[in-house]
Amino acid sequence: MVNLVLFGPPGAGKGTQSEKLIAKYGFVHISTGDLFRWHTKNDTALGKRVKEIMNSGELVPDEITIAMLKEELDKNPQAKGFLFDGFPRTVAQAEALDRFMQENNSAIHHVVALEVTEAEVRARIAKRKLIDNRADDEEDKLNKRISEYFNKTIHVLPYYKQQGRLSAVNGIGEIDTIFQSICKIIG
Ligand code: AMP
Repeated sequence: MVNLVLFGPPGAGKGTQSEKLIAKYGFVHISTGDLFRWHTKNDTALGKRVKEIMNSGELVPDEITIAMLKEELDKNPQAKGFLFDGFPRTVAQAEALDRFMQENNSAIHHVVALEVTEAEVRARIAKRKLIDNRADDEEDKLNKRISEYFNKTIHVLPYYKQQGRLSAVNGIGEIDTIFQSICKIIG
């Protein structure tokens, strides 16, 4: 069983690479962004709590995010392996994830950081907006999401680096080349 965190700014290609990794390895995909979007779309109690935060492009508080993540883990006791996408985004989330994995005698084996410059991220998101008009992709919200990544989320990387679990992959290039680099890390 291999558990993987896919890390990178909005627009780094996490979604595209996740699809390919799931097809190859059979991971259970946990995207906290997708889960939050599901809750807001279905107007659940949780969705009501996070809607405004999400629309502003800010991070949802750890307490809410970690509780939702735990619930999702508990729904999948038979998983061959998990692929975490968009989680963890804070050190508190990373620590909670390690705790949950340990409770199941498991671990996060690899953290793959897709390295993409801010300019490239902005160009890609501008293109994506033309096809998939996500509400939070509007200009100011987008700026907020990108700065949340570069100001807050990026601080999770040293946590994994110190423990030798971090692998950086150049996220600029052909989709398949990037995919092969990730597969090599997984082994
Ligand atoms: P994403 O699609 O991963 O960029 O997530 C969309 C939005 O959901 C983010 O801008 C945050 O508001 C919220 N979100 C998703 N994952 C997390 C997380 N791990 N921690 C806090 N907020 C999150």
